[in-house]
Amino acid sequence: MPGINDIIRRMMRRSSLVTTVMLATLAAAPLAQKNTPKPDAKAGIPSKLDAYKQEAVADVDSRKVFSQQMVDQIFSYGELGFQEVETTRYLADVLKTNGFSVQEGIAGIPTAFMATWGSGKPVIALGSDIDCIPQASQKPGVAWHDPIIEGAPGHGEGHNSGQAVNITAALAVKKIMEREHLPGTLRIWTGTAEELVGSKAYFIRAGLFKDVDIALFTHVGDNLEVSWGPRDGTGLVSVQYSFLGETAHAAANPWRGRSALDAVELMDAGWNFRREHLRLSQRSHYVITDGGDQPNVVPRTASVWYYFRETDYPHIKELWQIGDDMAKGAALMTGVQLLPDKVLGSAWPQHFNKVVAETTWANIQKVGLPTWSDDDQKLAVALQKELKNPKSDGLRTKLSDKLQGPVTENNGGGSDDIGDISWNVPTVTLRYPSNIPGLPGHNWANAISMATPIAHKGVTAGAKVQAMTILDLVMRPELVEQAWVYFRDVQTKDTKYEPLIRTQDQPATWLNKATMEKYRPEMTKYYYDPSRFKTYLEQLNVKYPTVKSAQ
Ligand SMILES: [Zn+2]
Repeated sequence: MPGINDIIRRMMRRSSLVTTVMLATLAAAPLAQKNTPKPDAKAGIPSKLDAYKQEAVADVDSRKVFSQQMVDQIFSYGELGFQEVETTRYLADVLKTNGFSVQEGIAGIPTAFMATWGSGKPVIALGSDIDCIPQASQKPGVAWHDPIIEGAPGHGEGHNSGQAVNITAALAVKKIMEREHLPGTLRIWTGTAEELVGSKAYFIRAGLFKDVDIALFTHVGDNLEVSWGPRDGTGLVSVQYSFLGETAHAAANPWRGRSALDAVELMDAGWNFRREHLRLSQRSHYVITDGGDQPNVVPRTASVWYYFRETDYPHIKELWQIGDDMAKGAALMTGVQLLPDKVLGSAWPQHFNKVVAETTWANIQKVGLPTWSDDDQKLAVALQKELKNPKSDGLRTKLSDKLQGPVTENNGGGSDDIGDISWNVPTVTLRYPSNIPGLPGHNWANAISMATPIAHKGVTAGAKVQAMTILDLVMRPELVEQAWVYFRDVQTKDTKYEPLIRTQDQPATWLNKATMEKYRPEMTKYYYDPSRFKTYLEQLNVKYPTVKSAQ
């Protein structure tokens, strides 16, 4: 155990506020107590918990190179959902090397794993997404569209960074738990194919979260933040409709054919008319995944893939039903057959736990935002200008003034299948500042900061918060109990989880296979090699930051 003076010295380096409060209380305390630290925060003496937190924060700082390498490595893999082969192999190796046992291929998904270290309660599950975005290939640190490989996928969301937050935090805490023989189990798991909302409902169905006490999720953002209650945004079901017609010579005997593509086009036209009469909160979009072969052959097969998004389960089901009706109507109109539909993904709307969010928020305030360099700000401002944003004020330098509570008016937005976890286990998502504010999302621009000092500093800040929150949950069992009280008596009092996936649905692990096969050989040449280069920027020979001279 460090002496009281060591603890005070450490705290003075870390947090002037805590130090001031502590020193003031110490001054008023009897002399004997000053020299004998007791695990009682109320008496003004730094508790064991505070000391462990300070130690974990220092430990996270000492692992900066480790975190940076993980961020850069996964950035360079740039793998689409369900094809995260290199990413999961790499992460599983890192975890095995650090004493975790890794269960691979969970829930029938080859690129998903659950790693475990420790024993006993609480069981804390640390998750983050790992997949990337189609056509988002981009050189990091360059403030305009400059793909590494034209047309290739890339981390245009920033999912290359969240595992580094969790793993760095877990290793810092594990060191303390091992030494102090603290009971508790740390799980680290992959948000596989999040861009397809393709895996988490299956994790729940496979019972992987049955014994989990608390789920701490991380997601890239542009500030250090957390929230509780219902979130802004939607849940969704992702469905592919396929039609079967008959080929014929499109000029000689068109009357002998039946076009499956006609059914797709009529379904889409029908949907777009109906859209006007749907609730404002819905979001729906589609891509035609099969539109036939060539114009002179009447298309025998055609498929269209829809995302139906709404703010609650009954409304998602309602949209889905309308979609099913449209598909049937289109088949009738065109005289083709509607084949059995395929659910390719699903997500419940998100609801985060009040107690865990409050605990995390207290730690966020202790950690604060990273110190950005002039170069970091220069890159951010140059990109904001390049995108012609109304505001080009660079990176965030202030935390939000309060913890974000429940959203009262939800007009829709994105989805994340962490929603399914959040309705089964008390969950929060920690957002950490590895990205630049004001970006379009799902775009090359969102990849620019993701293998630069901005991402690295954001990850270190996030890992500090995550480590402190894990320690809170390990050292204060009453928090876990209170989190479950909120979960049972408030969150799920009237709303019960029912999966959107049906018994016959299976993870859509074939998705993105062809795209990755097309680009992987070229991408392999750009995989990050930390044995030769300090950073990925260095490997790509990118000067940081690279901005236009007018900017
Ligand atoms: Zn995401």
